[in-house]
Amino acid sequence: MTRRDEIKANLQNVRAKIESLNPKANLIVVTKTFPIGDLEILYELGEREFGENRDQEATEKVKQLPGDINWHFQGQIQSNKIKSIANWANVIHSIDEEKQITKFAESGKKLELFLQVNLQANLDTPSDAKIGDDARGGANPKDLNQLAELVNKFPNLHLLGLMAVAPLDEAPDQAFGRLSQIFKSFQQSFPKAQYLSAGMSFDFESALNHGATHVRIGSSILGKRE
Ligand SMILES: *Cc1c(COP(=O)(O)O)cnc(C)c1O
Repeated sequence: MTRRDEIKANLQNVRAKIESLNPKANLIVVTKTFPIGDLEILYELGEREFGENRDQEATEKVKQLPGDINWHFQGQIQSNKIKSIANWANVIHSIDEEKQITKFAESGKKLELFLQVNLQANLDTPSDAKIGDDARGGANPKDLNQLAELVNKFPNLHLLGLMAVAPLDEAPDQAFGRLSQIFKSFQQSFPKAQYLSAGMSFDFESALNHGATHVRIGSSILGKRE
């Protein structure tokens, strides 16, 4: 089996599952760590939404691929990289601090943003606390409105909605059920933020059942990362 056949079969399998649960959902193929040859195959198979999480790696890839790709950033944001990320990314999924918003605004680039929610935080968690598996990131749900109001002050930033990663120690259905409640209450204040980015290779079906409009899938399509 060639690499192309393998990617094509995996992609068809993932797309069939998305189709059966929410045909309108957007698939972002998370291409981080995979070589440019894989991205060329995906492009040739018709994919146009790619997700990366390392600035330097993405900058190289973007240079070598056609201009009609929509590039998503979904990793931890280092503030000294924001200017550079804004050069190549179109959609940022992992906003969880005010200073990131002002820095992306200062870039002057037109960007679409998701606010990342930490599903391990609860109403008693202080806003500045490091919560659970901190590497997963995300804002405390009670801080979302304030972040969204800040995004809406900048004409070059467009708020798409909320994003989350399911905690490792909880059933995805339970975590995404909570996310769906958080999203509903957020939308009462921000009805134009219509999108929900949730679900990775091993939990995207659960996420789609709980209203995800954007799924971010890597290893189910491209295989295990080294
Ligand atoms: C790496 C990553 C993904 C994709 O993960 P897979 O398990 O390879 O599907 C999705 N979302 C985020 C935030 C990631 O860091």
